[in-house]
Amino acid sequence: MYVLKFGGSSVSTASSIQKVVNIISSYQDNNPIVVISAMNGITDKLEVISHLLVKKDTQKVFSLILEFFNLHLDFIDKLIPEGEIKSELLTELNEEVVNLKDVCKSAIILRESGLKIRDYILSFGEKLSARIINAMLHTKEIHSKYISAEDLICTDDNFGEAAPNFDVSNNRINTLHSILDTNTIPVITGFIGSTRDYITTTLGRNGSDYSASILGALLKVKEIVIYTDVPGIFSTDPRSISTAEQITDLSYEEAFEMSYYGAKVLHPKTILPAAENHIPIRIKNTFDSENPGTLIKSESKPNGIKVINLIPNISIVNVLGKGMIGVPGISARTFNCARSVGANILMISQSAAEQKIGFVLRSEDATKVINELNQEFKSESERKDISMITQIKGSILCCVGRGISENPLVLRQVFEVFEENNIKILMMVLGASEINLSMVLRKEDAKRGLEVLHKRIMEPSHSKVIVE
Ligand code: ADP
Ligand code: ASP
Ligand code: MG
Repeated sequence: MYVLKFGGSSVSTASSIQKVVNIISSYQDNNPIVVISAMNGITDKLEVISHLLVKKDTQKVFSLILEFFNLHLDFIDKLIPEGEIKSELLTELNEEVVNLKDVCKSAIILRESGLKIRDYILSFGEKLSARIINAMLHTKEIHSKYISAEDLICTDDNFGEAAPNFDVSNNRINTLHSILDTNTIPVITGFIGSTRDYITTTLGRNGSDYSASILGALLKVKEIVIYTDVPGIFSTDPRSISTAEQITDLSYEEAFEMSYYGAKVLHPKTILPAAENHIPIRIKNTFDSENPGTLIKSESKPNGIKVINLIPNISIVNVLGKGMIGVPGISARTFNCARSVGANILMISQSAAEQKIGFVLRSEDATKVINELNQEFKSESERKDISMITQIKGSILCCVGRGISENPLVLRQVFEVFEENNIKILMMVLGASEINLSMVLRKEDAKRGLEVLHKRIMEPSHSKVIVE
């Protein structure tokens, strides 16, 4: 059994959809379970609709829903010949769109616009694309069945970023077993699930990879294959550096660090269910299916830096002051300010004498956190115990690979290349995870820092710092 997940980029043109169908049919004898994302850009369009609900502009909302529907109709006209399959699909799509319109209308009347409604609205991207792929398989006389993951993946009610409940989902997937027993391919919506009482939830943006892994773990499949628009994981985003090299294998740990710190190719949560069940994940290219891609599994060779990714638009927030020396609880209060506004801290550094606590978060969260800090430390500031709270904008350059922390040569390479190119490191964290070296660079140095370090690491004489 294999889970095959196809991302938005794989279902966004008529010819790519043909490729998807060919790939699925090549797995026919291996019990594939197919997971489909919304077409590229569709979830963003649905987000716009959900934001418009508060404006009570029914006309605008309905015209965007029509646009959304027509976009899918265009594909159907290109892909599916007139006949029973097409008319059945059009009936299904019409029903879905009526549901979408109804909920938007009710939301506008009731002035409801929360995450619960947003999740329901966003679910239609996956519902329509999965139905189209299912109908396409029928045109090739392949037995398949559309299933909404609302009927399979049970989650908590943390709308917008729901977490799966594996025990309840385990009961729900019995339906899947009976479909597989009849040699029918299930075509399942990515990204969504539902609460215990079947209210639609989403697993977080880019969450279809996670859906694939949850289903793979529930069904104990042989491999989870993520089909995307690049032939695997590369030494850096191949869209930003054309000399990026494909990586043959990574450990679960490396893949987690890499995806958590900026590599969009995989949703970080995807790793957890697969790793717990020792199921390999393979990243492959829909447009070059012969390429074996990148295999993610328990072990990988320790090879020094393997992947370098950039996270732009981050800020260092520094809390400075001599009055912090030896005063217990300053760090806890500082980080509490981030927690209270829901900001995620990406890196932390603190001087030994506690004169300075620095932490890194996304720039969009920085102002809110600084306001909280100013409130929290008002009396310390008045007493001059805390002298300054500052913000420095930059980018995180994140290097991932087994062997980074064991070998001082890796650090030497980094320092040498940055010194030669006059690039200043504003903050550095090594050792929090033994396979991750993260550095904050000035905004204006970030792209160049990535380029020069990537070039050095990839040069045969400098690369591959092997630690056995
Ligand atoms: P999908 O639509 O299939 O889910 P995504 O756009 O979410 O695809 O992820 C694929 C993209 O991830 C690639 O097009 C690539 O630009 C980007 N990416 C970022 N970092 C890396 C990396 N280190 N290796 C490969 N791809 C990367
Ligand atoms: N369609 C969803 C999104 O754009 C999920 C995904 O594509 O993985 O976030
Ligand atoms: Mg993706």
